[in-house]
Amino acid sequence: MSLATESMVRRQAGAISPDALKQMQSAVFAADELLSSLAMHVRLDRDELKPELEDISVQDMLERIDLLFATRAQHTGLRWRVLPSLCKVRSNPLLLERMVCDLVANAMRYTPQGGVLLSWEPGGTTSFTPGSLFIVVACLCWAIDNNLTRKVSTNDAMLVAALKGLVAGSFNTALALGSGASWPSLPGVWGSLLVGFFGYGLSLTLFVVGLRTLGTARTGAYFCVAPLFGVIISLAVWHSVPGPTFWLAAGLMALGVWMHIRERHVHQHTHEPLEHAHEHRHDEHHRHEHAFAWRGDAPHVHSHRHEVITHEHPHYPDVHHRHTHRP
Ligand SMILES: [Zn+2]
Ligand SMILES: [Zn+2]
Ligand SMILES: [Zn+2]
Ligand SMILES: [Zn+2]
Ligand SMILES: [Zn+2]
Ligand SMILES: [Zn+2]
Repeated sequence: MSLATESMVRRQAGAISPDALKQMQSAVFAADELLSSLAMHVRLDRDELKPELEDISVQDMLERIDLLFATRAQHTGLRWRVLPSLCKVRSNPLLLERMVCDLVANAMRYTPQGGVLLSWEPGGTTSFTPGSLFIVVACLCWAIDNNLTRKVSTNDAMLVAALKGLVAGSFNTALALGSGASWPSLPGVWGSLLVGFFGYGLSLTLFVVGLRTLGTARTGAYFCVAPLFGVIISLAVWHSVPGPTFWLAAGLMALGVWMHIRERHVHQHTHEPLEHAHEHRHDEHHRHEHAFAWRGDAPHVHSHRHEVITHEHPHYPDVHHRHTHRP
């Protein structure tokens, strides 16, 4: 304020120019802001003000701040960028937003040229919360699910996937609605149905086929390369280069996949007698006769019996190769 008044004095009071008036106005505004934030700090220090805490979506706040500073950045010629964040924090929305605004305002004030970047880095420290325990339990349930699905994987894979999707989907929807979630908009429903068709329906069908021919452990291990595709897409969408730990992890992952692909398990083994139904061709495990004429090289489904057979060939722990391995 003193600066503005000084310039007024220099201009010999009486005829106040619009420029000086504007200057004074903004100085008074800044002083007011400063005083009220000072008052708030004092009250916070004295514990008079108990800030009420709420769950805040960081992204909503960042978008408001983005709007607030976009024009100012344009005026000062600074580049202004806000990175999106999916974080949720528990804080007081007004105080937090004010604090972040203050930080950005200071950054803009004291940056003569270049740009200002606002990004939200969650926590920094990795802590074990009760929520992460649920994820561990979910993974355990998934492992049990996979082992049980392997036992029914000789059935029609599409049917298995459809039944699982129907039961799990309706249960999860009921769980969400029961815990207070509201029904999404129609485009949202169609979008999630589309994602569900590819991400669950098609994926699960192929997963069941994998369980049938590769066994549980290998199918699960191969399925783990799924995030790799997510990483490739995200690298294309967000143009940021990840740090050295990322490339180290990527290298280890590639090594693991390579070792998996090179795997060749051959030894003499004996098949116990077994009766079951699944899609098959007449290969070295399926040498049965049919009562009617049938081209055995075409895939077909029926209940059939496997007699005792001892032979040697490369194999996976699929539905026919459940033998144990002793060192
Ligand atoms: Zn069979
Ligand atoms: Zn047949
Ligand atoms: Zn057959
Ligand atoms: Zn065999
Ligand atoms: Zn075998
Ligand atoms: Zn074996």
